[in-house]
Amino acid sequence: MKRREFLKKAGATISMIAALPEISFGKGLLKSPVTTNRLRPPGAVPEEIFAGKCIRCGRCVEVCPYRSIRLLDIRAGLFTGTPIIAAEAIPCYLCMKCVLICPTGTLRKISQEQTRMGLAVVNRHRCYTWLGSTICRTCFDVCPFKGKAIILDELRPIIVNDHCTGCGICTHACPITAEDGSKAINIEPIYAQETVPWK
Ligand code: SF4
Ligand code: SF4
Ligand code: SF4
Repeated sequence: MKRREFLKKAGATISMIAALPEISFGKGLLKSPVTTNRLRPPGAVPEEIFAGKCIRCGRCVEVCPYRSIRLLDIRAGLFTGTPIIAAEAIPCYLCMKCVLICPTGTLRKISQEQTRMGLAVVNRHRCYTWLGSTICRTCFDVCPFKGKAIILDELRPIIVNDHCTGCGICTHACPITAEDGSKAINIEPIYAQETVPWK
């Protein structure tokens, strides 16, 4: 394909995406990449309008000192080029640099405490301490808001929904990894809370 033709087609695709005011969560090319431990950076606008607002400039990726953010590749369909964080691999350390640099307001200028990337959920059938097999308080110890976002009840971790930022630092640190890569504490997107099977 000639360069001009390619650019024309690429431009048409981007215009189509930008013209979408809202994307409903469906299957295939319209399926949102946001799911368990796959999160948008802090301050993200609602997922329904994210792909239409993000211009795929990659500035959030460049500014992140921890390399927490990557851009989705072509397999993400309409969401290609938008930023995502894999919490169990590299969580968000809440430095808030990305929200300051985003040129479109796709990442809104919020504070650490206002961040709600998702919500940590303890799988009580997998957590060592909840099972009573050994005492582990790793998630509690690493949480930047311990005692507020996560508390201990007879050493068992409990999330305080109103204060959890969904940063994923607890998920990353959790020593238990299941076959599917998930941990004993995982971050669920806010909108998917009602579908968490083991809450
Ligand atoms: S807040 Fe900081 S650590 Fe978190 S994703 Fe943005 S730039 Fe990276
Ligand atoms: S900085 Fe903002 S507009 Fe640019 S890729 Fe990141 S979220 Fe999208
Ligand atoms: S409980 Fe986990 S996700 Fe929530 S604020 Fe603490 S470390 Fe972050």
